[in-house]
Amino acid sequence: MTLPFYGMASAVSADPIEKKPLYHFMPGSATYSVGYLGCNLRCPFCQNHGISQRTDAPTWRVEPAGLVAEARAARCPSLAHTYSEPLAHAEFVMDCMKAAREAGLANVLVTNGYCGEEAAAAVLSLCDAVNVDVKAWDEGFYREELGGDLNSVKRFVMMAVEYDVHVEATTLVIPGKNDDPAQIDAIAGFLAALSPDIPYHLSAYHPMYRYTIPATKASTLRSLADLARRRLRYVYSGNLPGERSLTLCRACGAVLVSRMGYAVDASGLRGCRCASCGEPSPIHGARKKNQKCP
Ligand code: SF4
Repeated sequence: MTLPFYGMASAVSADPIEKKPLYHFMPGSATYSVGYLGCNLRCPFCQNHGISQRTDAPTWRVEPAGLVAEARAARCPSLAHTYSEPLAHAEFVMDCMKAAREAGLANVLVTNGYCGEEAAAAVLSLCDAVNVDVKAWDEGFYREELGGDLNSVKRFVMMAVEYDVHVEATTLVIPGKNDDPAQIDAIAGFLAALSPDIPYHLSAYHPMYRYTIPATKASTLRSLADLARRRLRYVYSGNLPGERSLTLCRACGAVLVSRMGYAVDASGLRGCRCASCGEPSPIHGARKKNQKCP
């Protein structure tokens, strides 16, 4: 076995952490984001198909220590592995995570969660926050359209919770494919059984790559979000331009964090508590394992 793409980056950028999306982890901060080549799924709607579905896109060599230094120079308190599928580069990702931890940076992973148990354990033991795509609640859709399997993704999400990693989940809602309320309700139920505080992002799909299905209607997204809110406390609809997204205090209802696009106002927080009533908030301001609301 050889690793021809070890340390080969296809994209590097300091992004708002909200773009991952992570809404309850270091809000308003930038995360130094690294992408690679390739993916272990073949989603026909992939927004990053130029780097996920081919291996001839431009790359350049990066080193874990170099990425950590660049993140610090860019004043990013975290290093994120994202864009295509980082778990296809687990060896390099783990080397980066070790270097980032030593330097006091938090480790962020944005993944499809389609991964063997042993690799999942190794990566999650180094990870602070993860956003996992739960793309549908339909084994046939996973197998036939994406080339993966839902059970592995479910196991990854459960393991992330077990490893005390901050977890958020995302579903790109695609008309006629996964917008059946029963599917979204089942995903919300699965997450809620792990914790009703897991933030769940429902994102609007737009035609991309091999899919020409018309974009998700805002009304569909809102009604699915309302459905998911029956099970989960924090459900966000994304990719809807001009829509403000709020996180409210569960005790007094005050706004803790307000987001418009990537502009974030977290003035409703005092440390990890509600500034109005002092209730512990669901927001983590730093590495989760090091900072829990007392
Ligand atoms: S898992 Fe993500 S990166 Fe991979 S093909 Fe699907 S959408 Fe693209």
